[in-house]
Amino acid sequence: MYNSIKHAAGLKRASELKTRIQEYLDIEKTIETGFRMKERNRINKERILEYFQAKESDWNRWSWQMKHRISDVETLKDLLPLSNREIEEIRQISQEFRWAISPYYLSLIDPENYRNSAIFKQAVPDIKELQDHSGHEDPMAEADTSPAPTITRRYPDRLIINVTNQCGMYCRHCQRRRNFEQKDTHASMANLVLALDYVRSNTEIRDVLITGGDALMLSNSVLDWLLSELDKMEHVEIKRLGTRTPVTLPQRITPELCAVLARHEPLYINTQFNSPLEVTLEAKKACDRLVKAGVVLGNQAVLLKGINDNAHVMKKLNHELLKIRVRPYYIFHAKQVKGTAHFMPSIETGLNIMENLRGYTSGLAIPTYIINAPHGYGKTPLLPNYILSLDEKELIIRTWENRIIRCENVPGSEEDLFVAN
Ligand SMILES: *Cc1c(COP(=O)(O)O)cnc(C)c1O
Repeated sequence: MYNSIKHAAGLKRASELKTRIQEYLDIEKTIETGFRMKERNRINKERILEYFQAKESDWNRWSWQMKHRISDVETLKDLLPLSNREIEEIRQISQEFRWAISPYYLSLIDPENYRNSAIFKQAVPDIKELQDHSGHEDPMAEADTSPAPTITRRYPDRLIINVTNQCGMYCRHCQRRRNFEQKDTHASMANLVLALDYVRSNTEIRDVLITGGDALMLSNSVLDWLLSELDKMEHVEIKRLGTRTPVTLPQRITPELCAVLARHEPLYINTQFNSPLEVTLEAKKACDRLVKAGVVLGNQAVLLKGINDNAHVMKKLNHELLKIRVRPYYIFHAKQVKGTAHFMPSIETGLNIMENLRGYTSGLAIPTYIINAPHGYGKTPLLPNYILSLDEKELIIRTWENRIIRCENVPGSEEDLFVAN
């Protein structure tokens, strides 16, 4: 039966909830996303194509994108209005650190306001990289946790195979910067065979993560072979690929690649979208193809100062990702890698973001915030405190709206304890 008192309470609560979202709604309108900027991106694309004297069909081939990666300041200064000082600084860093940007990823930068661009900051080297004397080359001690060539094993039932150091774009915040100072190299077939031997003879490994570099820098045929070998091992239940190509080089996700991937289910791909600007029509097309091939998509964002260290931007990013069927999986606290101190946010910033997600948005849009313990001791979740106290009788919680509420622990546990004593 219709209950008018309850109805009035429901209305009151609904209007209270509306006030809780108002601040976000006001700010959300001002956040630039790849979809909103599609016209600007298109104009940038035309300009870059004209510069390279190329056609739309070239743009859509990943081999063209790779071959025309911008990796010297002479080219970059023709495509962005860099100051003389920036040109000089980038030239200086280029002698120490490699960098390379696909024409596609460059087209996401607003040339009129490039210094504040989340894309520019991730892709173009900054003189601060040379001025950072903190941090470590290898903060996770990956070099010490390798029981076989190309393998990093840090957990009981799963491991990583590092198949290449090549990427479509060399992220300035990369945790494996130490690996890309040299040139692009794929793991040798001999080493991949040794890695597969290791997985084959360690039957507790049920989850194999192929990464790099970028796993999708491998050719379709090598990927097909690697995944087929893993499929033959009964104990390997799932396979994962780590790749940023849906973000930096979506042209890599071809129908031919998807036909290969479709043969190797269950297959998971985790990628790294860090900014709502990266969720473009091209990225959506790539993700649509992967989903149709039966691949399950997840996102591992990195919390980066000046890029996504803001609760509203991070929420918008996660909403945009769900629209293209990519489930937010992790937000990583940036690692203390030498040359990346200018990207490091505080832990409080990350906790504040998590505080502003839970309750305020779909659980699907809430990844786990992770810090990597030093020395390779593993991913560790960080969470705002929701448990105020816990004993045998009761739990006291703080809800997302800061209500303090008492919950009974196991019902009747008090009597059970009494009897047991
Ligand atoms: C991150 C990582 C994994 C995967 O961890 P999940 O929490 O299962 O996603 C596996 N092995 C190593 C060495 C890793 O660094």
